[in-house]
Amino acid sequence: MHEHPLETRHNKTACFLLVLLLAVSCASGEDIPPPSSGLALGSGATANGSVSTPPFPIITQPPMANIVSPPMAKPNIIFITIDSLRADALGAYGNNRAQTPHLDALAKQGVRFGLDITQYPQTDYSHAAMFTGASPASIKDTYRTPYVLNSSDVPTKPMTTLAEILAGQGYTTAGIYSYVGLTPELSGLNRGFMTYQFACLPAPEQKYLERLCDGRANITTDAALQWVKDKAATPYFLWVHYQDPHYPYTPPPPFDTMYGPPCPDCVDGSYETIDRLGAGEPISESNIARLVDLYYGETSFTDQEIGRLLENIGNARLLDNTLVIVTADHGESFNEHGLWFHPGILYNPVARVPLIISYPETIPGGSVVDALVRSIDIMLTILELVNIPPPEQAEGKSLWPLILGLEQESERVAILEERDDNWVALITKNWKLIRNNVTGGLELYDMIMDYDESNNLASINLEQALQMEWELISWMNSHGITVQRGPLAPMDSVP
Ligand SMILES: [Zn+2]
Repeated sequence: MHEHPLETRHNKTACFLLVLLLAVSCASGEDIPPPSSGLALGSGATANGSVSTPPFPIITQPPMANIVSPPMAKPNIIFITIDSLRADALGAYGNNRAQTPHLDALAKQGVRFGLDITQYPQTDYSHAAMFTGASPASIKDTYRTPYVLNSSDVPTKPMTTLAEILAGQGYTTAGIYSYVGLTPELSGLNRGFMTYQFACLPAPEQKYLERLCDGRANITTDAALQWVKDKAATPYFLWVHYQDPHYPYTPPPPFDTMYGPPCPDCVDGSYETIDRLGAGEPISESNIARLVDLYYGETSFTDQEIGRLLENIGNARLLDNTLVIVTADHGESFNEHGLWFHPGILYNPVARVPLIISYPETIPGGSVVDALVRSIDIMLTILELVNIPPPEQAEGKSLWPLILGLEQESERVAILEERDDNWVALITKNWKLIRNNVTGGLELYDMIMDYDESNNLASINLEQALQMEWELISWMNSHGITVQRGPLAPMDSVP
């Protein structure tokens, strides 16, 4: 259902910029479009204009300092994002094979969210949603650029990032990232960071932009700790992005054999393998299992380095009164539904990400929240703790009422978009509707009973599917996503 999983168009447009920025040769013979052609941006025009008001509220929360009751001093904030980490790859989320002791311990120390949905299955827009509290559709409509929050573009309305807000409140801010797409010129996510540093292992691959550097968790942690040693001053906001679980799946020793012995007849996790899979080459079940083992190895390596990061920050006596948040920008698919990697994929392996929050001053250890939450809720959660009102663009809702047991059942719904707007999903705690925006076809899955999304119930529970489709189209209309194909007649809407 989805196009080639490798980020081809992104690579081409990004490569165009890289030529300008770094004077690095891109692949010869590629058809490189101008930057403005990278994404189809909605103008608000729709094929179905009958609904203009969302049936569910877009909620912004006033500060609730009386509920959270933070200490008098502003808390430090450590925000860790792990690229391509699916929720079920962690021990804390019930995986009995994965060895992730440090993240598991962090979850035991704080709260683990059992159902967190990303808003976008690719790195830059997912991070932009987390840093603005706004949906990717709103960000695209605001900046009219494929390059996310690129400050060189004139926004149609103001949008403020978490780092900008915290810097304005006296925080020392730093962003340490390990993916080339997060560079200032490509993402604009440097806004508000006093230190914004790329930490990676230079790689020999020159064909694609994203392959010029390979994230290595030890290098990322080293860079973060160097900043702590040289520049950290309380209160601080430190964002650390780890790239390792993202392909290629090439963990260093001993993590390369942690989940299985050396296997000379198996595929490796190199870019060559990734390219063959992306081209549709068949793969055996045993080789899929080998790639998952290597992915787990990358995850365990990252877990070790996050443990080292937090331990050393603690040794520097900079971990007291500190909010620690760990999440992922999206998950990763290993041939589930016949799909690989993450771009364009809305199914659970990519949609569901871990979210762990530790703040011993307020959060009881070992808490679990099973209500549906979203990546756009993270920014408002941080701002509420430091008693700062959310910016106007925010579409999320603070998680504190759920954390503290003041909101038993989430009223939130999650919207999951993808690059081309060919597929859009609306997710509640009980149901997930995926709509094919081109054909009008619907997929409806039971979120409680069908984790694998193997049983499309749209024809059996047509009333539920059509109700959710109406809500989804309402949201699309209000967020500038063109409805390419309006609702079909009820019996025609199920593929
Ligand atoms: Zn990513």
